[in-house]
Amino acid sequence: MNLRPTVPDCMGEADPNLGDIVVPEDVLQRRIVELGAEITRDYEGRAPLLVGVLKGAFIFMSDLARAIRLPVEFDFMAVSSYGSATKTSGVVRIVKDLDLDLSGRDVLVVEDIVDSGLTLSYLRRNLQARGPASLEVCALFVKDGLQKSDPDLRYVGFPIPPDFVVGYGLDVAERYRNLPFICRYLGPA
Ligand code: 5GP
Repeated sequence: MNLRPTVPDCMGEADPNLGDIVVPEDVLQRRIVELGAEITRDYEGRAPLLVGVLKGAFIFMSDLARAIRLPVEFDFMAVSSYGSATKTSGVVRIVKDLDLDLSGRDVLVVEDIVDSGLTLSYLRRNLQARGPASLEVCALFVKDGLQKSDPDLRYVGFPIPPDFVVGYGLDVAERYRNLPFICRYLGPA
């Protein structure tokens, strides 16, 4: 008999591929409000440019922006990293570049999750070369102990255990992004 409690999917139905909830919705939302307040304080008098990394960061970006009491601007870029479905290789390709010029701007990169940190390290080098006045990173989740070098994150939502998770923007084959919490993924990659 399987006694493991099953986490409901976006339609409220038990999904055997979903494991324990790692960060519940209310905890997630409270922390995002705190991050927004911190960013509001730190960037007072400035209009930071939020750069969202698609697709995973779109839900976080939307909630975070509404918790920031400053005239923020938005841009998005999409990257694809070569590797298996659940592991990055570190070789990153820009699939959609930014529309705006970064020179002289206070750029805040909004990332969903930092695993090995390879994607972020590529992005940081790429964006820094465009001459922003400042470049900082806000990552919602950081996996404990997996980064090969210090990812230099100005804002972190939650350190989480090094398991593969889905929800709140994070997917497997485009599914589960609209779960309002994050949970472990137990199914096939
Ligand atoms: P890194 O380059 O830091 O190893 O991986 C970063 C990217 O891999 C993230 O932006 C995200 O797209 C993906 N990723 C890393 N860990 C997870 C995870 O636990 N779940 C999901 N769905 N994607 C992940």
